[in-house]
Formats: sequence, structure tokens, C-alpha cells
Amino acid sequence: MKRAAIILILGLILAGCGAKNNNTKSGKIRAISSITIINDVVKNIGGDKVEAISICGVGIDPHTYKPKPNDPRTVSESDIVFINGFALEHWIEEMVHNAGGNKRVITVTKGLTPMTDERGFGDPDPHAWFDVKNVKTYSENIANTLIEMDKPNENYYRQNLESYLKKLDSLDSYVKTQIETIPKDKRVLITSHDAFRYFGRAYGLEVKGLQGISTEAKAQTEDVKKLVDLIKERKLNSVFIETSVNPKLLEEISRETGATVGGTLFSDSVGDEGTVEGTYIGAVTFNVNTIVKALK
Ligand SMILES: [Zn+2]
Repeated sequence: MKRAAIILILGLILAGCGAKNNNTKSGKIRAISSITIINDVVKNIGGDKVEAISICGVGIDPHTYKPKPNDPRTVSESDIVFINGFALEHWIEEMVHNAGGNKRVITVTKGLTPMTDERGFGDPDPHAWFDVKNVKTYSENIANTLIEMDKPNENYYRQNLESYLKKLDSLDSYVKTQIETIPKDKRVLITSHDAFRYFGRAYGLEVKGLQGISTEAKAQTEDVKKLVDLIKERKLNSVFIETSVNPKLLEEISRETGATVGGTLFSDSVGDEGTVEGTYIGAVTFNVNTIVKALK
């Protein structure tokens, strides 16, 4: 009787350890990503060996994200945390600390050089994912991490990486050829916040955001006036709103200048799960098609 009880207790302790030791019942790696864009890359590389969860959901603004009470628990039950870095996730350090502090955090921009805030504050611009070539680095960093964690499945991750890199290469050329169809003097992208500077640099568009590289910075009356003047001066006919940013000010600018709202772009999040735009590649393709249609 006594022995049975001890065995039972021992069993419970071991089961408890197993659960704490993360790898879910299915034996998959539990990978947390800060934003849906990174989460989608993790899904592509990790395939069915990884359970991928994003802290910021679809359409959520990561710059001003207020962690939910159960986020630290989600992190503590994970095996690995992937973040963008370049000062995007101001809240991640505290979240990892609240999750017990011993979580491995991988910065997927490792190896890239950030653009810095053109308004002169010198902050790194986090939106590196809008140069498609940069996401090849994200993919490699994610693949290397998964391989390190799960050596027996190295070939699986390498194959997924290779096929995803090919898709990124085709996306990169698609964006280039599409943007080239816009008349040169019309290649100006006006958006809610400065999320598209890497995009502009890589594909040859002039980019103006109403807010700075973070939505935390409030747009000033002066910023609004500057943008209105620019639109009038250059006779631009479209501005763009973003899925994760309040469109109010930009709609006002549109009314004041007569420039139409050319569409809603995905900036810091992919679209709804299960839709074409619910992936990074789908979201970028949607953006490019929307931009080209409006500016051409
Ligand atoms: Zn942003």
C-alpha cells in the first residue's frame, strides 16, 4: 500500500517535470514568436515538428502592445522565443523575466544592420521584414536554432529552409518587377507610420510615414501639415492606411488633400489565419498589388 502510494507520487512528480520540460505531448518544439510575421516564418521552417504561437495576434500593433496576464505563462511553457529585435519589442524583457527569466530568446535579425530613424533620434528601425532579402536571414536564424534544438530532424529543417528561401527569392523578384511598372514620379508611398523604409530602399519607392518608426510617437499637427503640403506639391493621388494602426489621421489627410485612400496595407502583422494574406508572402504580395494598383 505504502509502496503504491510512493510510486504514484513519484509518477506525478515525473509527469509534472515532463510537462514543465515543455515539449508538448505531441513531442513538438513549442516556439513563441513576438509577431505574426516571424511566427509564419517559424511555421514554414518548423513544419509539423513545431507548434508555433505568436504573442501579438493578427492586426495587433507590437509597438504599443500591452502584455496579457497569461503571456508570461505562455512563454514559460515554451521551448524557445523568437523576437525581431531592433527595439521592436520593448515589453519582451519583462515578459521573459515574469516567465522565470531562463528562457532562450533568439533575435531573428541577427546578422543584419538596422536602418536608423530618419527623424534623427538614432533609434533602429525594426521593420526589416519589408526587404524580402532580410527575411532570408530571419529564416536562416530560425532554421539554425531549430536544428540546434532538434538535431535528429536537421534534414527536415534544411529542406524546409531551402524551399522557403526559393519562395522568398521569387517574391523578391515579383516585388521588384511590379514596382517598376509604376511611373517613376509616382513611386511615393504615404502611410500611417514609417513601416516601409526598408521596402522603399529595397524596391525604389520614396516613403513617408505620418508617425515615426514606432506608433508610440504621436503625430504632431506639424507632421500632418508637412504631409498635406507634400501631397499637394507632388500631386500625389493615393495614401495608404495600415491594418494595425488607427486610420483616423490619414483619412483626415485624404479628405483635406483629395488624395484617395489607396488601400489598407499589412505593416506589422500578417492577415487573418486561413486567408492568403495570413502568411508573410501573402501579405507582401497583397501590399504590392494594392500599391501598384493605386499608384499606377
Ligand atoms: Zn511598425
